[in-house]
Amino acid sequence: MSDPLKEQEDAAQALELVHGAAGPYLASLSGRKVHDSANDVLIDQLDGPLPEQGSGTVATIERLLAVAPEAATHASGPHFYHLVVGGATPAAMAADWLASLLDQNSGLWIGSPLAARMEAIVLDWLKELFGLPSDFGGVLTPSATFANLTGLAAARRWWAERLGSDVTSQGMSGLPAMPVFSSGYVHPSVRKALQILGCGRDMVRTFVRDDAGRLDLAAMEEGLRRLGGMPAVLVGNLGEVNTGDSDPIAEMADLAARYHCWLHVDGAFGLFAAASPRTAHLTRGVERADSITADGHKWLNVPYESGFAFVKNKSTLTEAFGAWGAAYLPEFDEEFPNFNMLGPESSRRARAFPIWATLHAYGRDGYREMVERHLDVAQRLGRIVDAAPDFELIAPVQLSVTCFRYRPPGVPEPELNDLNARLGRAVLADGRVYVGTTKYRGMTVLRPTFVNWRITEAEADLLIEVIRELGPELN
Ligand SMILES: *Cc1c(COP(=O)(O)O)cnc(C)c1O
Repeated sequence: MSDPLKEQEDAAQALELVHGAAGPYLASLSGRKVHDSANDVLIDQLDGPLPEQGSGTVATIERLLAVAPEAATHASGPHFYHLVVGGATPAAMAADWLASLLDQNSGLWIGSPLAARMEAIVLDWLKELFGLPSDFGGVLTPSATFANLTGLAAARRWWAERLGSDVTSQGMSGLPAMPVFSSGYVHPSVRKALQILGCGRDMVRTFVRDDAGRLDLAAMEEGLRRLGGMPAVLVGNLGEVNTGDSDPIAEMADLAARYHCWLHVDGAFGLFAAASPRTAHLTRGVERADSITADGHKWLNVPYESGFAFVKNKSTLTEAFGAWGAAYLPEFDEEFPNFNMLGPESSRRARAFPIWATLHAYGRDGYREMVERHLDVAQRLGRIVDAAPDFELIAPVQLSVTCFRYRPPGVPEPELNDLNARLGRAVLADGRVYVGTTKYRGMTVLRPTFVNWRITEAEADLLIEVIRELGPELN
């Protein structure tokens, strides 16, 4: 029989095993397929009934190491451009291991002054990186979805208060539907957050002026006028996932000021545009938002799970999440913050560790360089695609997304969607690079996104090479 109490000596040995696997794994990343489905059968080795007798610490970690590094999706390598997925910088990864070693509960100051202080420090650093006012409040979240949930919970609380209700205490009953206005760029996770908050995922009204979903500001203003003084929530989008395009945040901030709205900005991916003078103008106005979302496990390149929520008015978070009234929990205190009163989580890991380490290791300059390198990769791919007879650039290259489709001469338009969908599947099955398809203005297109710190311009050429090899076989 195994018992962790009797195996304390084995802990260091188990960590050694993982450490021993780390070097060769990291060294293999650039030469590996992103995913090799032939290895999926290995996962069966982890299955079976709950063990009655445990196998013990060392044997178990050995077993896991025999399977996981082979069966994993190697998205932390340089060849993954699907979704919007970063890797983990060396400093972030090492600090994340340390966070597991120390196992801090960052929810309460009393649980870990170290983790709580580090959270306050990294929130200050992130505000500097993003050009946000230093007096904004904030909290680390498990993801951008949770950051949207956090910001929109604060918005909902503010909105209900305007209507004379305390939603934190009394809930939504008796209240009308909360008006939420956005462009066609609104991310599904904003809808999910509204769904969880009881506001309804389909209650977002989008004001669009074209089939790409770009914001129709005049129509949004008309919509606000028609509300006749009812407060509303505007959602601005910084870095839409199909093309990297953004809403005009400053103009939305003007509208929000004129019509007394709450402005929430989802900058999960796009807020990092602030890190480079080449793109910082895209974020103009974000400093006037009431709540802002960004992601750590995307362009910051820290391990999952990492997101950030910022709010203009600090107290809106404690109003939405604090005041638990449990006798064994301390009250909120500005000087010794309990981060579990600023967001949806209670106990939580010390996700400030990798954020602190990566910002300390590479600094503002390192992040500007990385962001600019990724902008260059997307631009390079855009130029290749634009000049090629067998590709079509579908949207101007913005941020680090290149939206295009395969269009070999002679293939009639009605067949292109099917061809590109099959190409997308063939690329994933091949596994050397990973890129996803999307529907954009009725077209099935490829939308590689470059946010992983390992990605260099050579990746644009590799992507084209793989597609040129696979495409003709499908046509
Ligand atoms: C990725 C993304 C999200 C959701 O982020 P998660 O971290 O996966 O929850 C939300 N909004 C935008 C614009 C995104 O790109």
